Amino acid sequence: MIIVIKQNADEAQVENLKSLLLSRNITPHVSKGSLQTIIGCVGDVAHLDPDLIEALDVVESVQRIQEPYKSANRKFHPEDTVVEAGGVKIGGGNFAVVAGPCSVESEEQVVAIARAVKAAGASMLRGGAFKPRTSPYAFQGLGAEGLRMLSVAKKETGLPIVTELMDFADIELFNDVDVIQIGARNMQNFNLLREVGAYTKKPILLKRGMSASVQELLMSAEYVMASGNPNVILCERGIRTFETSLRNTLDLGVVPLLHKLSHLPVMVDPSHATGHAYMVEPVSVAATAIGADGLIIEVHNNPACALCDGAQSQTPEAFTATMEKIRKIRSVL
Ligand code: PEP
Ligand code: MN
Repeated sequence: MIIVIKQNADEAQVENLKSLLLSRNITPHVSKGSLQTIIGCVGDVAHLDPDLIEALDVVESVQRIQEPYKSANRKFHPEDTVVEAGGVKIGGGNFAVVAGPCSVESEEQVVAIARAVKAAGASMLRGGAFKPRTSPYAFQGLGAEGLRMLSVAKKETGLPIVTELMDFADIELFNDVDVIQIGARNMQNFNLLREVGAYTKKPILLKRGMSASVQELLMSAEYVMASGNPNVILCERGIRTFETSLRNTLDLGVVPLLHKLSHLPVMVDPSHATGHAYMVEPVSVAATAIGADGLIIEVHNNPACALCDGAQSQTPEAFTATMEKIRKIRSVL
C-alpha cells in the first residue's frame, strides 16, 4: 500500500501517521520528493482499512498495490491447485463435467439421469436437495430425502455427487456428498463460508453471486480457505446486467482473468448463465475453448415436467451430443 501525503501536511502529522502504522506492525518507508511525500507500507496490510487511512487529514490518497486475498492469490501459490473429489480431479489440466437435474425429484428420476450422464461421459452428478427458490411457494427440494436419493444414484453409477448446502445446520446430512456447492445467493453468506471452511476439507464449489465482482468472489473463496479448507472451485454462472433476454449475462472473460489472479480451478455453468437449453451446447463449447477447468450442466430426462429449471435443462440426448463436441474441443486445445 502506498500513502500519498498532502502537500501542506506538517511534520508532526506525518509522524503521527507513521506511529499509527507502526502500531499496526507496518513499517513505513517515507520518501520525500520536492513536491510530494509518499509512504510505502511494508508488512501485512490486510488488516488496514484503506478508506480509513484515506480519510485522515494528512492523506491525499491511498493506492493498494496488493490484492486483499492471500490464500486464493496466484502470486503466493504460482502452480494450479488440483481439487480432487471422489477420485475425480479438477484443475491443473484436469477437466471435469458435472451433470444432472437442477433438483432431485425422485429416486427413479435421479438414478435414470445419473446413468444417462455417466454413459455420456460426465464425471460427477449434480442435483439439488435444498433449493434456493425466489418464491416460497415454489418447489423447495426434497431435503434429506433428496440427499438419500443422490446417494443411491452414486452407489448405482459410482459418480461422485455435487449438491448445494444452504444452511450449516444441515451439514451432518452431507457425509456422503463429495462436493458441497455454495450457491450464487449465498456467495456472501460469510458465516456459512466460515463454518463450512472450518468444518470440512471437502471441495467447495463456490458460485459467483449474481451481482458479485471478481474480487468479491475471490474474497469469498478467501473466507473458506482462511477458515481451513484450501479446496475451493470457483464457478462463473452469469451475472445480472441490463440485458433481460437471457437469464443472466455470462461473463466468460473472467475465466482467463480468474486463472491469472488465482490458482483455484474455474468452472462454468452454461445452464444458469443462459436459461435456455438450446444455448447450453454452444456456451459449453466456448467455455471449454476459453480454458475452463470444467462445466456444470443441468440435464433432465423430461425437461417439460421438471420441478425446477426445465427450460434450461438439456435432455440426455442433447447432453450426449454436447459431450461429443466438448471432447473435440479438448482434443485440439
Ligand atoms: C443451481 O445450481 O441449481 C443453482 C441454484 O445455482 P445458482 O446458485 O448459480 O443460481
Ligand atoms: Mn438450477
